[in-house]
Amino acid sequence: MFGPPGSGKGTYASRLSGKLNTPHISTGDLVRYEIKNQTEMGKCINDYSARGTLVPDSTICQLLQKRISQPDCTKGFILDGFPRTIPQAQELEKICATDLVINLDVPDTVIIERLSTRLTCRNCGAIYNERSLKPRTEGRCDKCEGHLYKREDDRPNIIQERLQVYRKQTQPLLEYYHKKNQVRNITNKQADVPPEKIVEEIINLIQSERN
Ligand SMILES: [Zn+2]
Repeated sequence: MFGPPGSGKGTYASRLSGKLNTPHISTGDLVRYEIKNQTEMGKCINDYSARGTLVPDSTICQLLQKRISQPDCTKGFILDGFPRTIPQAQELEKICATDLVINLDVPDTVIIERLSTRLTCRNCGAIYNERSLKPRTEGRCDKCEGHLYKREDDRPNIIQERLQVYRKQTQPLLEYYHKKNQVRNITNKQADVPPEKIVEEIINLIQSERN
């Protein structure tokens, strides 16, 4: 799943995962898991953060490799949040092949509206929305009852900057996958389209690719 912050990647990927009975692998979740469980890898990752350096691609790929060698991944999986750069894509190719890139094409205005009403679980990272995806209990995560908060970088002017950085960074990657003829666009021009509708569109697309 490919798309800017706020395009709904995580939301769609997790619903798609349920419908297709295919694991949803978020590299953000993998990293959080290691940190939370204070594994050797988690400690390494913490060291990188403490030094203010990015976690190396090879570390992320190690985590990915570990995850996709689990039996539930033998028939495939949905990747969310990775790769974001060509070097990352090349690292990924060493451990598995990608066959489809779902590119979420969402205008900035929609993203800004969605992100500025976004709520994140402090404990498990689950995403909600004040308007379109409310938790069952206000301020609490449905999955783990963690506290929901608005991220500092989800403010409109900061979002605009993040989008500019994102597009500049990922444009070459999108072209890379275009050359492999793997990119399929899903266009969503409105903020309040129910996730189910987009997920249905993605499923139709995947099925038509299979035929
Ligand atoms: Zn939670």
